[in-house]
Amino acid sequence: MGFVLLPQDDSNNLELQRMAVLNFDSFIPIINQAEDAGGIWDRKEKLNGKNFYKRVAKGGQETRKPKGPLDNLIKLSQIMVIRRERHLNTTLKKKGGKSMQVKRREFLKTGVATLGAASLGLMAAGVGQKRGVAEAAAVPEYKLYALKYAGPFTSSVAMVFFNKEWDKTIARNYYIWAAQGGGQTVVFDAGVRPALAAERKLGGYVPPDMALARIGIDAKKMEHLVISHMHFDHNGGLELFPNAKIYVQRKEYDFWVYDPISRKPPYAAVADAVVNKQFGDLRGSARLVFIDGDQKILPGIELLLTPGHTPALQSMAVNTAKGLAILASDCAHIHRSFVEDNPSCLITDLPAWLNSYARLREKVQGNCSMLFPGHDKDMLEKYPKVAEDVTQLV
Ligand SMILES: [Zn+2]
Repeated sequence: MGFVLLPQDDSNNLELQRMAVLNFDSFIPIINQAEDAGGIWDRKEKLNGKNFYKRVAKGGQETRKPKGPLDNLIKLSQIMVIRRERHLNTTLKKKGGKSMQVKRREFLKTGVATLGAASLGLMAAGVGQKRGVAEAAAVPEYKLYALKYAGPFTSSVAMVFFNKEWDKTIARNYYIWAAQGGGQTVVFDAGVRPALAAERKLGGYVPPDMALARIGIDAKKMEHLVISHMHFDHNGGLELFPNAKIYVQRKEYDFWVYDPISRKPPYAAVADAVVNKQFGDLRGSARLVFIDGDQKILPGIELLLTPGHTPALQSMAVNTAKGLAILASDCAHIHRSFVEDNPSCLITDLPAWLNSYARLREKVQGNCSMLFPGHDKDMLEKYPKVAEDVTQLV
């Protein structure tokens, strides 16, 4: 059965319709919720020359026009549902766009919350406020994956936990991360490029693109690559993502590409000069996206300036089914740092770093289990495994 949802009153909410199309993926939960509220949209009619479907009751008898907030939300949507199979899977197709399969069950979990948030706004809605409603409704929930691509490596605890436990050792891994939701995949950090891994004889190394392939992500097709900071183990794999937009803090970029201080031994030791030259060459390209401070890059994904380890390390705050989760990369090498306010020994600005911890804890309302560090072996060992050396954090 196929059906189409189009605005039933398209005379005065064109802006909202446009926003609904832009935020297409986020409207999927609402569509599912609409189906679940007891109606099926399957009756084709014409309005202003456009096809649309009205709600009919199960069994095929036309009963009523939907009422209340749900109705308003449906008016916002401009989404074509081209096939539904036994209520389990739904194929959705944006008008004129590509189609995607949706597992209905997954979205039902989140539909109520989304709808609830949107309804509150609609009750108070003037046209101006409806913009906020569309945005509130348009936040996908992402799943977060940690992909180990090298390690384990052993060092003194003091290396990853500043000036503590010199006599004890600790194992750490190298990771990249992926956030998937709302039809989008964002890769967080690029790992080490294969040639440098060979040069450094990096143990347990698998090229980051092959690690991503283990969960079905094609690095070559990636559109969004966020670079937390420009250390070799985080920005080195740039060449593996030839089509991605690269999101990097401008201040971080300027330091590593232009500042002569970054060529001094303590910085050079953790930099990949070849890759930093590649970053320099990208200047002016549409692929390079400079971030200044905090910035939302997609619905449900915000980059946060959390300096200290480097001049402008950025974390990535992600909306998940469990609330806000933050991939913080080397803002903490191990999770303990978030809780005990003690960073690694690689410090650019200690006061700034401690402020970053305070900010991150505030962002997750004190729930440090939603903060994820850069090198902690627990990320591999204490979360559900979804593929070889890949775990699902949230
Ligand atoms: Zn690192």
